[in-house]
Amino acid sequence: MDKDIATPVRTRAILERYGFSFKKSLGQNFLIDTNILKKIVSFAGLTEESGAIEIGPGIGALTEQLARTSGKVVAFEIDQRLLPILADTLAPYDNVKVIHNDVLKADVMGVMEEEFPDTKDVMVVANLPYYVTTPIIMRLLEEQLPIRGIVCMLQKEVADRISAAPGSKDYGSLSIAVQYYTKAETVMIVPKTVFVPQPNVDSAVIRLTRRENPAVNVKDEHFFFQVTKASFAQRRKTLLNNLTSQLPDGKQKKAEIIKALETSGVDPARRGETLSLEEFARLSNELYSHFH
Ligand code: SAM
Repeated sequence: MDKDIATPVRTRAILERYGFSFKKSLGQNFLIDTNILKKIVSFAGLTEESGAIEIGPGIGALTEQLARTSGKVVAFEIDQRLLPILADTLAPYDNVKVIHNDVLKADVMGVMEEEFPDTKDVMVVANLPYYVTTPIIMRLLEEQLPIRGIVCMLQKEVADRISAAPGSKDYGSLSIAVQYYTKAETVMIVPKTVFVPQPNVDSAVIRLTRRENPAVNVKDEHFFFQVTKASFAQRRKTLLNNLTSQLPDGKQKKAEIIKALETSGVDPARRGETLSLEEFARLSNELYSHFH
């Protein structure tokens, strides 16, 4: 087996050979610890039958571990300067395809149909660029891609918000949006020292396992998310206050909002952060007819 890319010595040698300079604006913090990479991959539960989609392969540190444990890896990389490096570092692996594109613009569904036509088990595994963590996760979930789930490194603060339970200070519309589609767990806290350059914030790895059906039944997903966002607009305000000030024509519809809160068994004086997904679903289903 070839030498791992993700050792401090080999990474430095690769970067020097290509005169590569990190772009902070692209969230380039590369992993230089093989043990951490192996753990990340183990959380994904891959087999030779699995496919892996990686976002931001960098110089291939994680890609190589994925290539060794799955049937095929497709990696989206935005930075053209990394393409010749990846062609070199990943040359020993014939089951890797690098696509030069911004993952937020790429036709990921189309790529999946083309690259994984017969693969039943596909996981997204990534050390995400931190400047676009949330848009990337939300895009992958909202598109309802046929993936089993996502295992990714991200800012610990965002991991806390994603996996937060009702009543905690981190619980908000992001927790609800992600938990609606997936079972979310923080599986590892990661020190800054395993990256080069070191990021300014602490990191964590989360595992999102896609649910076969969303966690709750809602009449209209868009409206459900609109209600949850409105409910957290100002965290110190009551639900009633947030809903009347944030929903379209909310002020004129105050009586209907109070009625919907009562019918769904939610005290108007509660704060959004105390409501479970089930309560938000009931509430948005009751409110729905008054806003459509
Ligand atoms: N996977 C490598 C590792 O773990 O060492 C690099 C991870 S680094 C945190 C993030 C990578 O994502 C960089 O290679 C960066 O160029 C790439 N990237 C940034 N924005 C991107 C985007 N919108 N689409 C695809 N790749 C992106």
